[in-house]
Amino acid sequence: MAILVVGSVAFDSLETPSGKRERVLGGAATHFALAASFFTDVRVVGVVGEDFLPAHEAVLTAKGVDTTGIERAPGLSFHWTGSYVKDLNAADTLATDLNVFAEFSPKIPASYEDSDYLFLANIDPVLQAQVRSQMPHVKMVAGDTMNYWIGAHRENLLKVLRELDVLLINDAEARMLSGESNGLRAAEKVMELGPKSLIVKHGEYGATAYFSARSFGDGVARRPFRSPTMPLGEVMDPTGAGDSFAGGFYGYIASQKTLTPEVFRTAMFYGSVMGSFAVEQFGTERLQKTTKAEIEERFAHLKEISHL
Ligand code: AMP
Repeated sequence: MAILVVGSVAFDSLETPSGKRERVLGGAATHFALAASFFTDVRVVGVVGEDFLPAHEAVLTAKGVDTTGIERAPGLSFHWTGSYVKDLNAADTLATDLNVFAEFSPKIPASYEDSDYLFLANIDPVLQAQVRSQMPHVKMVAGDTMNYWIGAHRENLLKVLRELDVLLINDAEARMLSGESNGLRAAEKVMELGPKSLIVKHGEYGATAYFSARSFGDGVARRPFRSPTMPLGEVMDPTGAGDSFAGGFYGYIASQKTLTPEVFRTAMFYGSVMGSFAVEQFGTERLQKTTKAEIEERFAHLKEISHL
């Protein structure tokens, strides 16, 4: 079933220990859509500027992603400048130029209205809330955010959190949002803010899912589940790892009939697999070349290295 994703469609200028790239195609919605497209239909809502060319759009449409909801506005696209030179597990934001996103007011195309799954990718929580309110009948809502919004836009973010079935954030964001340094207590506090389930990403060390009694609608509070990551020889550019994880995770869920604990756990593994491809090259390069056979091969590998 189809996923509607709203989030940044951007150009990224990146510096990692492997090198530098200027203005490569990126954005949370872009990475998410590419990863999820291997599992289900994906529809994007976002805005781009005059620098977004047909060749950029073709990166998405080549994977069957529906770009009808990407609005064009006068000016430049969102531009993020980040560095991983100090720490490959933590992006250092050098500049965030909202550009056309500053004036964006999301509109859902009529052809998107029957989407069953909504993903609120990383973007201003005011925009996330606007899209959520225009899609009142979805089966499930998942979302992401980052320190930029947790800090200065907390009140707006808290409104979005109340709407979420699943929130995906990293360790530092979980600490920042909850004010707790212990992982388990931080997770409990975050779920008290609204999300029924929480996924905390630990960079190269995997991700942990935390559940509440509301996670599967049966009142049962389950133990956390941890998914490993693929041991990789080289990480060239971690940008988009989290969004690709989210795309694999949510894409798999949308491809299944119901959300069971087993579907959730399997989806975590597919999330890890998609994140592992994203980091092997700069920007979207590696995901563009990924095949379904490679995905299944890595999924089997991940099971093998983490089961008795
Ligand atoms: P991640 O998957 O966490 O590495 O996300 C990387 C993507 O997030 C990049 O492609 C950026 O364009 C995008 N990004 C960075 N900062 C922001 C922001 N404040 N709002 C929305 N998207 C952002």
